[in-house]
Amino acid sequence: MLRLVLWDVDHTLIENAGVSKEIYAAAFTALTGRTPSHLAPTEGRTDPDIMAELLRIHEAPPFPWPQVERALEAAGAAHRGALAERGTVLPGVVDVITALAALPGVVQTIVTGNIRANAEVKVAALGLLGWLDLDVGGYGSDDRERSRLVAVARTRAAAKYGLDFGQAANAVVIGDTPRDIEAARGAGTRILAVASGIHTVGELRAAGATCVMSSLADRAAVLAFVLGS
Ligand SMILES: [Mg+2]
Repeated sequence: MLRLVLWDVDHTLIENAGVSKEIYAAAFTALTGRTPSHLAPTEGRTDPDIMAELLRIHEAPPFPWPQVERALEAAGAAHRGALAERGTVLPGVVDVITALAALPGVVQTIVTGNIRANAEVKVAALGLLGWLDLDVGGYGSDDRERSRLVAVARTRAAAKYGLDFGQAANAVVIGDTPRDIEAARGAGTRILAVASGIHTVGELRAAGATCVMSSLADRAAVLAFVLGS
């Protein structure tokens, strides 16, 4: 059996304890020389979207994306210690990720609105990097539209591991927001929605997820869904 498991990062694998927002604020300050008075909503959006919104609401000029990405990357690297110190891995994650990693034919990676560098900082700071192949993920640095990132990851996985890994039927998204659900459904991919972020089980169901869990603590149930069809 082949499975490409596409993990969301924030509020699915990890809780960042506000460090994400500090990274956006630091990037904003690096670009504009100002401290942001308030932050843009993040949940499930891509970094290019979040930074564009943050600049817009402060009436700052838009910056070229490469410059914004460099500022985000520097801010992410500077916050690695804070992530390691204050961030946490969510319940059940290590159990599930290690169980899946032990199965032949399973590849695990990330689909996130974070730029790749900062996704890597987050999972590395909290000890999850060894189970994930970030080379075949989909990131906010690939496309501003999150809905396209599942396809980006599948294309990369197919190129590295074989065409079957690009099949929608062999992929599963695990995420915590309606945007994860929309991205998975738009790509014809199954989604396990987990209510470990700000959205309730009911909200995630209403957003179209047929499998919703309150956490990933029930390893058997998570594996049954991921490995089922
Ligand atoms: Mg999330």
